[in-house]
Amino acid sequence: MNTAEYTPVVGIEIHVELATASKMFCGCKNDPFYAPQPNIYTCPVCLGMPGGLPVANKKAIEWTIKIGLALGCEISLFSKFDRKHYFYPDLPKGYQISQYDQPFCVMGLVKTEFGDVHITRVHLEEDTGKLLHQTVHGKKVSLVDFNRSSVPLVEIVTEPDIHSPEQAKAYAKKIAQIIKYLEVSSADMEKGSMRLEANISVQTPEEKSANMLPPYKVEVKNLNSFRFIERAINYEVKRQTDIRQNGEIPTQETRGWNEGKSETFPQRTKESAEDYRYFPDPDLPPLRFTKEFIEDIRRTLPELPDAISARWKKMYGIQPEQSVILLDNRSQIKTLEALFVACASREADPQKVASLLINKKITLKLSEAPENVILQDSVDDVIAQMHTVLQVDTIDENELEAVVQEVITEQSKAVADYTSGKQQVMGFLIGMVNKKIGKKIDTKKISDLLQKQME
Ligand code: ZN
Ligand code: MN
Repeated sequence: MNTAEYTPVVGIEIHVELATASKMFCGCKNDPFYAPQPNIYTCPVCLGMPGGLPVANKKAIEWTIKIGLALGCEISLFSKFDRKHYFYPDLPKGYQISQYDQPFCVMGLVKTEFGDVHITRVHLEEDTGKLLHQTVHGKKVSLVDFNRSSVPLVEIVTEPDIHSPEQAKAYAKKIAQIIKYLEVSSADMEKGSMRLEANISVQTPEEKSANMLPPYKVEVKNLNSFRFIERAINYEVKRQTDIRQNGEIPTQETRGWNEGKSETFPQRTKESAEDYRYFPDPDLPPLRFTKEFIEDIRRTLPELPDAISARWKKMYGIQPEQSVILLDNRSQIKTLEALFVACASREADPQKVASLLINKKITLKLSEAPENVILQDSVDDVIAQMHTVLQVDTIDENELEAVVQEVITEQSKAVADYTSGKQQVMGFLIGMVNKKIGKKIDTKKISDLLQKQME
């Protein structure tokens, strides 16, 4: 089988629950993961009772726009909410309030090491309740917890720009990282505050040369880790390539991922858009934004991973593939920055420090102390660790200079030999310095000093 002729064509949908204080369309507390009991953060609106009227959460709208801006999107100055109808026990109203043809954000771009991924849209909707399948008094039952019902949910949709499982994983990781930097969600895939779905198809060489998308796509849901999305795409590309090589078209359907068996399985055939019978929600007025409102949100954007990475490369020579790893934990960015600055004055190579950190030869300790104390302590600690790892001890500059001078005075014969051209004597002199100090320190540092003082 020659899969090389077939090109994977993948689009990704990511759902992110916003960490606002209250829910999307009511005043209920938004804290589904830490609720002490099921169904306590509920009211007539999020339970879908007749007559309950939704009011949009302004913070959630601002944060959605913030995400859109961080992903380089254009922000629509006019937008609205629509009803998306389907029946499921975790959806009490019988419809989900979402956005259909006027999302808040469109046309963004995310760069990955495997190529650019264009963002089609970023819109805001509400989450559903959660079904729990349990056995109660020996009977199998399904229970519903509405604590999650109507939690603000952002959906980020890409163009079918992804062409490998690795790119899909890199893209998903990048989105999680950006969301964490924006501090709008925990983006925790284990808990489900970030959820991945992939639309996967494979393109024949003929379709590719005609610049045509494949005439079908398979949606894989429930991919709750970066590893799963990579593996599910791998599996689907192989499965679909087999089918297409036999001259057939894979069924357009929704599939799930079975991690135990490492395979996807059919769930249902895919609804088309009109099955949802979208229409504007008559309870929620359309929204108009001013340019100033959008610019005010833009000003709240922090420095994002791509910008930090570019700056670190320029200032400290840190390679982008190193930054990708170091930038993952936002809480250590300030300390890393202070560390790289300190490297300059302590004759340490920031790139070397970065690689030791990445390979876990040394670790960055973050404490609860006030910020300036954390920075200094952590920097000192890392540099000390680095010297240990490199088997080089630190020494006070003045002490070293004094010892070097002593050795020069005592070893006048060797010094005369060196100055008359016997370069190999340097090794002997360095050894004498090390012996006097009683520890092994950076050889280059000693030889530089010896040379300077002998001149
Ligand atoms: Zn409520
Ligand atoms: Mn959605």
